[in-house]
Amino acid sequence: MKIAFFNTKPYDRQFFEAANASHGHEFTFFECHLTPETAPSAVGHPAVCVFINDKVDADVLRTLAANGTHLVALRSAGFNNVDLVAAEELGITVVRVPAYSPYAVAEFAAGLVLMLNRKLYKAYNRVRDDNFALDGLLGFDLHGSTIGVVGTGKIGQCFAQIMKGFGCHLLGYDVYESPACIELGLTYVTLPELLSNSDVVSLHCPLLPDTYHLINADSIQQMKPGVMLINTSRGGLVDTRAVIEGIKSGQIGYFGTDVYEEEADLFFEDLSSTIIQDDVFQLLQSFPNVVITAHQGFFTRNALKAIAETTLANITDIEQGRVCCNQIKAEEKVVTKTPACAIDR
Ligand code: NAD
Repeated sequence: MKIAFFNTKPYDRQFFEAANASHGHEFTFFECHLTPETAPSAVGHPAVCVFINDKVDADVLRTLAANGTHLVALRSAGFNNVDLVAAEELGITVVRVPAYSPYAVAEFAAGLVLMLNRKLYKAYNRVRDDNFALDGLLGFDLHGSTIGVVGTGKIGQCFAQIMKGFGCHLLGYDVYESPACIELGLTYVTLPELLSNSDVVSLHCPLLPDTYHLINADSIQQMKPGVMLINTSRGGLVDTRAVIEGIKSGQIGYFGTDVYEEEADLFFEDLSSTIIQDDVFQLLQSFPNVVITAHQGFFTRNALKAIAETTLANITDIEQGRVCCNQIKAEEKVVTKTPACAIDR
């Protein structure tokens, strides 16, 4: 099938070209995001492949459908950027990659915890500057501390397992309880209970209408003073302005985030010679107890290989008229649960 890839980098091309050896699809790579302005470039491509910051709204979908596209293949797990209702009305099938490497993101979240706790970002620069003083680098033992995992799906479960290895107590909140997490020793509680008892709160649930700004001024007030908040899921889970107020008051002691609600205008690009116009982002960056990374949790060799292989297998399934277990339907906007078959891919 002819596939138009939007928002691509050299590493995407490398992994997709390698995975295509067993599929034989035809690729056109565009560096630009998929937007109402760029959507006409997909003319003549039955499939379009997009990433998290491509906005696949009703406008874009109408243009794609009018130009002969009938398949949108997300090379991501999250699908909050796609208007599934409009896609269904236009007869466009939407597929995603629900599982590629939960380890990649969970390990990255654990990395943020260590980095913030032991102030590794400061220590690295100090030693390079021949400053060997330890003042200001004081951390706490993770052993014996309480970790709150919000969303105990694939990534949340891996993260819980890693933190168990450090000797942490595990609390969890989810709309479904995971027997594997219970077996790990995680105790399910309500969200307010999790927030008021956790030293570290780590977000691993999807961005859905009912999780939008799950972390807001009210929920921050319920947290332990000096809490560490980690977000490797989606920027929209967190009200950034409320987090800034929480940091200024000392209620939030550490904030590590791999995602940002307005990241589409910033992340994945080199803007080092540009004046960033986003004042909220710039203020957040200025705090000494904040670490921001540019949505790189997924970025491991293993994950990119799995993303390319699953995306092309999804497209081949649809091309050959087979049922694709990674297809997403409009009703999944309400709650997501990964089909069992997705994990085997
Ligand atoms: P998953 O579907 O396996 O798990 C998500 C869990 O969240 C499920 O157990 C689900 O029941 C739960 N959930 C749904 N609604 C909830 C609610 N209202 N409150 C609490 N829990 C709720 O997904 P996953 O593979 O573990 O991925 C989790 C999220 O991580 C994705 O949605 C995506 O946004 C994010 N992600 C980030 C990166 C990155 O590079 N930083 C990479 C992949 C995924």
